[in-house]
Amino acid sequence: MPFPTLQPPKRLLFAPGPTMVDPRVYEALAKHVVGCMDPFFFEAMDQIRVMLREVFGTRNEMTIAVSGTGSAGMETAIANFVEPGSKFAVFANGFFADRLAEMGRRQGASVARLEKRWGEVFAREEAQEFVRRERPDVVAFVHAETSTGALQDPGVITAAARESGALVIADAVTSLGALPVPMDKVEIDIAYSSSQKGLSCPPGLAPLSVSARAMERLKGRKSPVNEWYLDLKLLSEYFDGRKYHHTASASLFYALHEGLRVIEEEGLENRFKRHLRSHEALVRGVEALGLKMHVAEGGRIPNVNVVRVPENVDDMQVRKHLREKHGIDILGGLGVLTGKVFRIGLMGPLASEECVKMFLDAFGRALKASVK
Ligand code: PLP
Repeated sequence: MPFPTLQPPKRLLFAPGPTMVDPRVYEALAKHVVGCMDPFFFEAMDQIRVMLREVFGTRNEMTIAVSGTGSAGMETAIANFVEPGSKFAVFANGFFADRLAEMGRRQGASVARLEKRWGEVFAREEAQEFVRRERPDVVAFVHAETSTGALQDPGVITAAARESGALVIADAVTSLGALPVPMDKVEIDIAYSSSQKGLSCPPGLAPLSVSARAMERLKGRKSPVNEWYLDLKLLSEYFDGRKYHHTASASLFYALHEGLRVIEEEGLENRFKRHLRSHEALVRGVEALGLKMHVAEGGRIPNVNVVRVPENVDDMQVRKHLREKHGIDILGGLGVLTGKVFRIGLMGPLASEECVKMFLDAFGRALKASVK
């Protein structure tokens, strides 16, 4: 007896990820699959590369979408640029910064960490002092730390790294498409992201951009890249040289193409402003309910709102109530913030004042029903 066809529930994805997929992206997913060497596929891929440069704020030739989720983008950056025996400096203020450090360790680098309380960001002098002291080959930071809701000023890190000539890796998994990622302006060397957050697509692709300076550095690598699948030299032979490397998913590339077209039509500035307005409305509403934001005003990510769980409320119960009674998905805390915060994503189709109102109404009911 065959299983029945799957009927996934229609959740309102107010989580930090995956987030609500744009309806036009769903249509793109249903289009005919072509081969990964088909001229049509390469044409679509080239258009994606042009649109990705726009959202990354860059003219980098090496701008692609890696097959895999955001962590594949992270691993591509680390595996190619953090060599065994090199010095790797990580600005460690959250769950995903820890993941960067762990990947560096596994590549055999000597990892130096500058610690901060989860929810705080790094100031110019601290970054400078750390880089001067450690003299790293590569530094890495998380632009929008999804686990805490804190937004790092990228210029603070790149200015410190430039002094010592270190390459800079930026995690733009949560920021890309929802807020500015000024790669060329502040001289980030390597930035990676994911398809399932600010780009309003399903998970499965990791946009990545690499500066010419970093590509030059890659040529001088002493040892081969340990990860064959994520080796940028081999990937560029596929993306630029049209030489088979792996069977890239045509459907996911169509989805990303449409997601980027939606963004282009709205205009980046308009999209950023819309996310900011929705964030401000959500903060006002959350505070009116008597709750507190985890990060101080001025340092918050607009598209991931991290709210402290009140002492007298059961956070699991709130999330269960939202899912079961309202079809709404949000997430709880990670690592040291487990049980202490709610993480509420406001991205793409859900970043509107109307959706914020609807969310706050449901959230208020869920809180009332979950008093301990
Ligand atoms: N970096 C950040 C800042 C993230 O928020 C995430 C996922 O939430 C990742 C990396 C890992 O991405 P993925 O779960 O798509 O592998």
